Amino acid sequence: MRRRLLFLAALALAGPALAQTFITIGSGSTTGVYFPVATGIARLVNDANIGVRANARSTGGSVFNINAIASGELQMGLAQNDIAYYAYQGCCIPAFDGRAVRSIRAVGILYPEVVHVVARAGAGINTIADLRGKRVVIGDVGSGTEQNARQILEAYGLSLSDLREAIRVNPNNALALMQDGRADAFFFTGGLGASVVGQAAQTLRIQLVEVEYRRVQELARKYPFYRAFNIDGGVYRGVDVTTPSVAVLSMWLAAEGVSADVVYNMMKATFDNPEFKSIHPNLQRFFNLNTAARNLPIPLHPGAERYYREKGVIR
Ligand code: GLU
Repeated sequence: MRRRLLFLAALALAGPALAQTFITIGSGSTTGVYFPVATGIARLVNDANIGVRANARSTGGSVFNINAIASGELQMGLAQNDIAYYAYQGCCIPAFDGRAVRSIRAVGILYPEVVHVVARAGAGINTIADLRGKRVVIGDVGSGTEQNARQILEAYGLSLSDLREAIRVNPNNALALMQDGRADAFFFTGGLGASVVGQAAQTLRIQLVEVEYRRVQELARKYPFYRAFNIDGGVYRGVDVTTPSVAVLSMWLAAEGVSADVVYNMMKATFDNPEFKSIHPNLQRFFNLNTAARNLPIPLHPGAERYYREKGVIR
């Protein structure tokens, strides 16, 4: 009895120190860029001892992450800026048309996500129009990639029914299908150097297919988030030419219900930490506090607002 009381007393004393907020950050496939970035964020947050236990979960991508934030399954996630906008507005893509998700908030813009269209060399795919009649991985279920694939095909007058097969699998399986010769091409919207594209380049003869900004721009009133972006030669093994494509931006999102203190402290533990940029080359090259809160497609989280105000990057 006495021991039990002592134990309870000890527990009561330890109480405040044990108070922890659990945060799960939805990312993407293990061979994408979201996953290593979200894992790195979670590590810096845990190391900072701010009363937050963070972990990263591998998911289908942007659409899944936003839906899971809405349902309370995830507290945070990474997602494309275009998809976040469509979700918040309840428009423009089948996943969110007429079904607005108002509970997502912005923490910050991270880095550009480039539309990669990767074709097996010799499959006769030199332009997007050549995808007609081909077996194409359009992205995973719940991915932002799938939405971009549909829009880009649309910009070239194609729909999914013009493909021989429109395959929805995650990037790991896309790679396996390409290696087995069961897919001719795959779409992947993600940071430069993504391991799925890197591995395809190392194990297969591949070609990156150009996406003309001019074409996509014709749809710009409907999809205003695309920017022209060149994939430099040499980024992927064996691809020495520069490939014009388009890009959107990756964002860190939080549920409206996560407290302002938690978001603020997580940002201090990451953005203020010199190690943040070494999580991934895309952060090293592109992340900038001055642009992290610029042109946001959805409202800032109050904790993020406090953080940026203190830094003087918003007024
Ligand atoms: N942007 C991609 C998507 O939402 C995921 C990118 C990644 O995993 O790095 O489908």
